[in-house]
Amino acid sequence: MTATPDASRTHDTASAALFDRASRVTPGGVNSPVRAFGSVGGTPRFIASATGSTLTDVDGNTYVDLVCSWGPMILGHAHPAVVEAVRTAATSGLSFGAPTAGEVELAEEIVARIAPVEQVRLVNSGTEATMSAVRLARGFTGRSKIVKFSGCYHGHVDALLADAGSGLATFGLPTSPGVTGAQAEDTVVLPYNDLEAVRAAFAANPGQIAAVITEAAAGNMGTVPPLPGFNEGLREITRENGALLIMDEVMTGFRASATGWHGIDGVAGDLVTFGKVMSGGLPAAAFGGRADVMARLAPAGPVYQAGTLSGNPVAVAAGLASLRAADAEVYASLDRNAATLGRLLDDALTAEGVPHRVQNAGTLLSVFFTDGPVTNYDEAKAAQTWRFPAFFHTLLEHGVYAPPSAFETWFVSSALDDDAFSRIADALPHAAKAAAAATAP
Ligand SMILES: *Cc1c(COP(=O)(O)O)cnc(C)c1O
Repeated sequence: MTATPDASRTHDTASAALFDRASRVTPGGVNSPVRAFGSVGGTPRFIASATGSTLTDVDGNTYVDLVCSWGPMILGHAHPAVVEAVRTAATSGLSFGAPTAGEVELAEEIVARIAPVEQVRLVNSGTEATMSAVRLARGFTGRSKIVKFSGCYHGHVDALLADAGSGLATFGLPTSPGVTGAQAEDTVVLPYNDLEAVRAAFAANPGQIAAVITEAAAGNMGTVPPLPGFNEGLREITRENGALLIMDEVMTGFRASATGWHGIDGVAGDLVTFGKVMSGGLPAAAFGGRADVMARLAPAGPVYQAGTLSGNPVAVAAGLASLRAADAEVYASLDRNAATLGRLLDDALTAEGVPHRVQNAGTLLSVFFTDGPVTNYDEAKAAQTWRFPAFFHTLLEHGVYAPPSAFETWFVSSALDDDAFSRIADALPHAAKAAAAATAP
């Protein structure tokens, strides 16, 4: 499955030794499945350090980073303002289990940027944010069913793991063992971008659907933006039926634009979830929304939700520093960099005659090995994903770290400079050749 290494431009002795040790004490050798390179084969690179747009692994290889920790690092790695904020916060104490001023400032920053969010609760991961939003939607409406879309990932919440895109797609699982029938039964899974299916689900389950949860723009089956009118349609249908709309902006928030996907299509979720960019690379996330819904949350209301480390002062400092440093110039450079990367991908694959399609959602992008547009998960899975391992490994050998799965979004940072882009431009023709030469299994 692994592409033939190209002239040993990189070596992986130290990574391989660590992966071997890791595999003895950690299932699969990693703490999050996609890091194991399962769908592309080969040895995952253990990272020693990173600065700007460059990753350095434990063998001393350097890579242009197009994963950006799966989204958070919009400013690039070890940004001085963020490092300084973390240093200052850490020297004042790591955690108190009592409120701090920083939590208020971060909540104010989110509320100021995202109009539909009137109140926000901080948590530790995107998974916790969507899990809590679903519980709150059920508590608020007194209903139990949740509608989600095939190929959308909302973290590893039991009820939301059905047909959940990249991570599971990589392992060919429709859903995960360990999720009970009852949990899956309350989840109605529909094709993405299909409003008729949503209308039919509401007709078939009258008065039972608590919420529709959707990625504001889908990024976990590759990048698949909502078709014009899709999010608006969800807004109307949920409102007509007394259900809530949960906009999952964990990936798109503060990345697709300065005001996330909401800044692009203006559709207001009753609840909105955030993670990734908002914590600057430390573990923090949030959910928020309408004040009357958030008022149902403990201790203001009866729906329980809590966290020993929620609003952790160091994570909050990193998040605040990142959001404050992410000014209009940073977002302009993310736009430019996403456009440049998309053009380079397109040029290289066109030159080799590889069927492909680069799709964008704001500054998110990914490439599908297919001619037609990809609007849902079935179309994403129908692409020639077997070309991807060779494409990926050739990029890696040439010092470009792309996401190790055909179903993941590529993430740019504002730290990508001319050097980084010339490295990408040098690597891509080789990778496109490898993709062209790949053969179907
Ligand atoms: C990453 C992601 C999550 C889960 O966030 P974690 O911090 O990994 O738990 C939820 N929703 C979306 C859209 C995501 O991309």
